[in-house]
Amino acid sequence: MRILICNDDGYYSNGILALAETAARFGEVHVVAPDRQQSAVGHAITVTQPLRADHVLMRNGMQATAVSGTPADCVKLAHDKLLDFKPDLVLSGINHGSNAGVNTIYSGTVSAATEATILGYPAIAVSCTEFSEKADLSGCCDAAAKAIAFVRDHGLPPSVLLNINAPAGPLKGMKWTRQANSRYVEEFEQRTDPYNRPYYWITGKFELRDEGEDLDITALQAGYAAVTPIHYDLTNHQALETLRRNPF
Ligand code: MN
Repeated sequence: MRILICNDDGYYSNGILALAETAARFGEVHVVAPDRQQSAVGHAITVTQPLRADHVLMRNGMQATAVSGTPADCVKLAHDKLLDFKPDLVLSGINHGSNAGVNTIYSGTVSAATEATILGYPAIAVSCTEFSEKADLSGCCDAAAKAIAFVRDHGLPPSVLLNINAPAGPLKGMKWTRQANSRYVEEFEQRTDPYNRPYYWITGKFELRDEGEDLDITALQAGYAAVTPIHYDLTNHQALETLRRNPF
């Protein structure tokens, strides 16, 4: 397999090293990742500035291309200019921090994988629920390896990517899940700057607004890796059916 790897924490993060080493067991790995921290940029792309792409060495000695843009930029640029082949699979991560529930929509990690599906490639996003750079990623790597083998052997439905979240530590098991309805509350902490003006720093508490055995959050709370198939079609098909009964 020829595998393209991206992330949103930058090419120097522990997570992308772990994912690149895991993926190398399955074939040829090409890392194209942001040159700096790009967490929570969602599906942003760069339109008002040029992009630079530099050859760099990752901390484990593997070659990579560092791009001065977003995760979605990286995948688009790799597809259009940097790779002279079509990858068999695109991986994103391993992100430091959860991309379960509503985090999915803010995530640069997930958006790199989503961009891959827009371009027609099978894709998997992998995140560790523990934010620390020092988190034990062994279980996340095992979940990634199982998912890579699954996609290699079974493929994925068109436009569908796998959003995998796993706790730190050894892998207990993997479950098929759905994205939990959730949100953040008490979002901003207010402080005062040296010039006596208020400033705001986003924090917030995760609030689950859903229940069920099939939720990503439920699987994670039970210690399992959550595997949610997602897609970028934001149409609410159920609502469309209902609303269509009232033509304009
Ligand atoms: Mn991140």
